[in-house]
Amino acid sequence: MNYASILAYVNPTAMTWAQRLKRAFNIDIHTCAICGGAVKIIACIDDPVTINKMLSHLNQIVL
Ligand SMILES: [Zn+2]
Repeated sequence: MNYASILAYVNPTAMTWAQRLKRAFNIDIHTCAICGGAVKIIACIDDPVTINKMLSHLNQIVL
């Protein structure tokens, strides 16, 4: 257990979103699920209208 994990255990509010996703869902947002390469966060979208538009568009195309 590394220092960040110990700190997150003692003070859950100290966890980053990446740590929460890894802990709760075993999702590693730092590694590409397809090629295993490093992933860099370039934006954070939190507007519900924009999120719905993007998800609707993705449902219309084949990935
Ligand atoms: Zn990739």
